Amino acid sequence: MKKNTIIFLSLCLLFFSILPGQQETSAEKSDPLKDFSLVKETQPAPEKVKTGLESITAEDAVAYLKFLTSDLLEGRDTASPGFYIAAHYTASMFELWGIKPAGDIERPQMSRYFMRRDSSPRPTGKRTYFQNIPMIEILGNEGSAYAEYQKGRMKQTKSFNQDTDYTYYASESRSLSAPVVFVGYGIQEPSLKLDEYKGLDVKDKFIMMLSETPGKDDPESPFNKGELKEKYYPQRRRMRRSSSPKTELAMEQGALAILLVENSPENNGDVPQRTINRSAINDERPIIPGHFRRISLYERGNISRSWERIPTITISRAMADDLLGFNGLDITSLKNNIEKDLKSQSRVLEGVTLNIKNKAETKLVNSMNVLGIIEGSDPELKKEAIVIGGHLDHLGRRGDYIYNGADDNGSGSVGVMEIAEAFAKNPIKPKRSIIFALWTGEEKGLLGSRYYVTHPFIEKTAVNLNLDMISRTYEKERMAMMARRWGIQMSKEVLDKIDADRYVSLSYDAHTPQIEQIIRKNNDYVGLHIHISASKEASGGSDHAPFATQNIPWAFFIAAMTEDYHQPSDTVEKINAKLMERIIRMTYLTAFELADR
Ligand SMILES: [Zn+2]
Repeated sequence: MKKNTIIFLSLCLLFFSILPGQQETSAEKSDPLKDFSLVKETQPAPEKVKTGLESITAEDAVAYLKFLTSDLLEGRDTASPGFYIAAHYTASMFELWGIKPAGDIERPQMSRYFMRRDSSPRPTGKRTYFQNIPMIEILGNEGSAYAEYQKGRMKQTKSFNQDTDYTYYASESRSLSAPVVFVGYGIQEPSLKLDEYKGLDVKDKFIMMLSETPGKDDPESPFNKGELKEKYYPQRRRMRRSSSPKTELAMEQGALAILLVENSPENNGDVPQRTINRSAINDERPIIPGHFRRISLYERGNISRSWERIPTITISRAMADDLLGFNGLDITSLKNNIEKDLKSQSRVLEGVTLNIKNKAETKLVNSMNVLGIIEGSDPELKKEAIVIGGHLDHLGRRGDYIYNGADDNGSGSVGVMEIAEAFAKNPIKPKRSIIFALWTGEEKGLLGSRYYVTHPFIEKTAVNLNLDMISRTYEKERMAMMARRWGIQMSKEVLDKIDADRYVSLSYDAHTPQIEQIIRKNNDYVGLHIHISASKEASGGSDHAPFATQNIPWAFFIAAMTEDYHQPSDTVEKINAKLMERIIRMTYLTAFELADR
């Protein structure tokens, strides 16, 4: 959504005229700090936001967080008792602060319906804080697979075991039987004269594909530079959850299913081996057998998760070699040949048919978003909403291990709560309405936020602000390492200037540059060290992504991606409460300004 240029320009003028000296006003291209806002000395915030701002404290945040991350809640897994407790707790706090409910209308209880048969049940008309969402849980997958090879009168078969030779998690029972085509990395790049589908008909066939791209570890590879790097390895690692260009291409070509072979031998798709190879295993980050519960949105006839539109079966290198071996080939030689001169090695595996059967057992479950609203003060503009969200769910438990998820995303949930409290307590309300959202099912595939964008409480969402993991501090070494991984320019000089205790990373919708202006200005009141990146991509790995796909402007705060990410060791005593306070205050101020423009 493009905003009026005039508003934008006048905003710039206003913003430059009140800027203190420590900020760059005309960022030169060569300025190593141009993507940063580093503020240490803060100024008092304007009167009109002050009461709300001062209600946001590290002490409150920690108190709320201790409840959300207690073992009682068992890791707040989607559609689990622990999640319901968390949802009811946040709803009660909303009620205490005077936030209005923005969920479903209360439905009559079944028991009452049966007791009073004379009168038909009628909705009470009372709104609740809960937006109920039907979901489907995949309870189990049982599968079997075998390959047949026929040449003349000779016939061979070879069988494979699920979870050892291959992994295939589907939400439905399926039986697949088809020839196999090797397509290398599954890439079409005219600029490199590489077309790994050239002359091949892969329609309704299995395609065997290497993950990643050629020359993964070679910085000189064309896939590790410029546009191709951006295409195949979008900036943020977590954003890879949306379907990749390779998957899109496979679907376009009409393939039946992808047999994915891990490119690097060290994660070779062999499940036990992968577990052994995992780095940093210790008592805090143990090997835990089994898998997390698998839940998806219940959408009749509309599976919108693109990665479910084409089955992707991860196969081990050994299984790949068994299939290729029928034709006297092996995966390592084929890979090496592609790497050598970027020439296609694609071919049909003559005489090979693969059969994979999968039986999935499913059941319907229910979970909910928690939604509250502060209505805008302007009779017209209140019909637009700023949605401030964070996911309340986490990974639950596995065996004896509870994933308390203090940073992911107890911190962001507490952030949404604190901001709701701040808007409620601040005597002046902004012009637009503010919706406070605690999403369910993020860890299962952004279920709650995806559901919300198609079932919004207020039709027009002006902006979505997303808080996910806002309470942890980087070690400098890891900060540098993650910056390299995400393609962020961070020289030694810049690194030295950053105070890790104040560091947060902000990405926002590049079509709405006002967001950056507002955040840079507000930083004078909170004193963060922010890395800022504008993103044109309408994709992402957290709850702002569904808003982005609807062309709704968004901004996303994340502090540190530590080694405790998605581990039972993500616990409350490791958080940096003061950092969390600063990020929450920043989000409050930014929401206020966006809502009051
Ligand atoms: Zn998260």
